[in-house]
Amino acid sequence: MPAGATRYTDSVRKYLALGLFTAEPAVLQGFEPVHSKHSVLIVGAGPAGYFAALELLEQGIKPIVLDRGKDVRARRRDLRAIQQFGEVNPHSNYCFGEGGAGTYSDGKLYTRSVKRGSVKKSLQLLVEHGAPSDILYEAHPHIGSNKLPGVVQNIRETILHYGGEVHFGQLVTDFIVRDNTMLGVRTITTDPAAPETGKEWLADAVVLATGHSARDIYQLLHQKNILIEAKPFALGVRVEHPQRLVDSVQYHRSDRGEHLPAASYSLVCQVGERGVFSFCMCPGGLIVPAATAPGEIVVNGMSMSRRDSAFANSGVVTAVEVSDLKAWEHHGPLAHLAFQAEVEQTLFKAGDGSQKGPALRLPDFIKGKLSANLPGSSYIPGLYPAPLFELLPGFIYQRLREGLSQFGRQMRGYYTEDAVVVGTESRTSSPVRIPRDPITLQHPQIAGFYPCGEGAGYAGGIISAAMDGQNVALAIMKRVKG
Ligand SMILES: Cc1cc2nc3c(=O)[nH]c(=O)nc-3n(C[C@H](O)[C@H](O)[C@H](O)COP(=O)(O)OP(=O)(O)OC[C@H]3O[C@@H](n4cnc5c(N)ncnc54)[C@H](O)[C@@H]3O)c2cc1C
Repeated sequence: MPAGATRYTDSVRKYLALGLFTAEPAVLQGFEPVHSKHSVLIVGAGPAGYFAALELLEQGIKPIVLDRGKDVRARRRDLRAIQQFGEVNPHSNYCFGEGGAGTYSDGKLYTRSVKRGSVKKSLQLLVEHGAPSDILYEAHPHIGSNKLPGVVQNIRETILHYGGEVHFGQLVTDFIVRDNTMLGVRTITTDPAAPETGKEWLADAVVLATGHSARDIYQLLHQKNILIEAKPFALGVRVEHPQRLVDSVQYHRSDRGEHLPAASYSLVCQVGERGVFSFCMCPGGLIVPAATAPGEIVVNGMSMSRRDSAFANSGVVTAVEVSDLKAWEHHGPLAHLAFQAEVEQTLFKAGDGSQKGPALRLPDFIKGKLSANLPGSSYIPGLYPAPLFELLPGFIYQRLREGLSQFGRQMRGYYTEDAVVVGTESRTSSPVRIPRDPITLQHPQIAGFYPCGEGAGYAGGIISAAMDGQNVALAIMKRVKG
């Protein structure tokens, strides 16, 4: 095997060949078909958008969902193209398409945002659409990427069944605003086979639930002088260890046997004024290429419901605050976004034009030394040794280096030649906030415009995004029905 090459394990090969639709078809019972004259446009078919649609249906208002990507099945072909050929479709990838960023993810449903809405109702809706019922009582509920797409498809069937609409391949490129009121949106089709190119959509309100990676939407809002704000976010790397090692550290035995779940960890430390913390741990999971445009390297993590891969990966990130980015200030509210994009593009340019991940063995990352070769990894596009200590911004590298050294002291076995550090974990949350009134949930400048979910800065995960969608739908109901 050549130096630095990645060895696929059986579990990774299984992922490449796997059918991902294990949820049985299930349409929610108990709603009435919508006959209301009121309709609401929802931009984005992620958890925020789909749960807003379900809530609107329950309130008797017609939801019309528009998404730039493809339906959850067709989307899989594009995920395969990223994984195997390094081709990134800017409208259909790990972040864009039906189900949003959460669909081909780890499917962890645990949230700390318990005061933002009813976690129970969101979990119950997932179960009624085919998710396993144990998510209702598990302390750390998890669905897995093999089951989530089927659940998403069932939610779409419910929306259609009760009179809502869902349109794929519709990229929102403009907002129709008159007298400080949002009237609708303009779209172009992203489906090269579709004949029409542009369309206007009008409704009583517009929910913007486009997620944290819709950079074109933030730019559009800024161009149109619609208020947005730079928001602190976190950036770092993904660290992968052999799962057996994490199991042996946590369970004090080298073989966890059949009954114990793949072990996880959660680590945090302080470096100067900032925290460094592990994030979105995926025991028995895979590192995935989560870029949303050609020319960038972004990694994230996911797992199947069985969490049976030979690897344990976790983001290790540090907060990026306004005070860190003086040199980007001229980008105004898009400063953090510009910084985020620059890091991702720098890492891409260091490579060979593919989605191969720039990586180092953990001790080499800390020593600032290029690795001669790399251990096996779950990352399907492959890894190559790259000087992350030069490619990452200095202040990020220094904090991560110190943070990872401290993690090595906190958790026996963490600091090992068998662990690999991969760049870059940059899509942890939105680098922009779209403001809204705390009571009406409308944008402060534009009536009928409802920023929603993670992309607007009001959620940080599948369940919190779903609850934000429900809250926005209830706020719209109050305005529309008086
Ligand atoms: C690989 C990965 C793993 C993750 N794992 C977990 C996990 O285990 N647990 C967890 O809680 N969270 C996880 N997350 C985070 C979680 O997915 C997000 O917090 C959540 O999906 C946010 O929901 P949302 O509806 O606000 O936005 P999104 O899910 O991002 O949905 C936005 C939607 O808007 C569409 N869109 C964007 N721009 C436009 C446009 N201009 N016109 C039309 N449509 C547009 C996109 O196609 C997309 O479908 C993960 C994320 C990733 C990428």
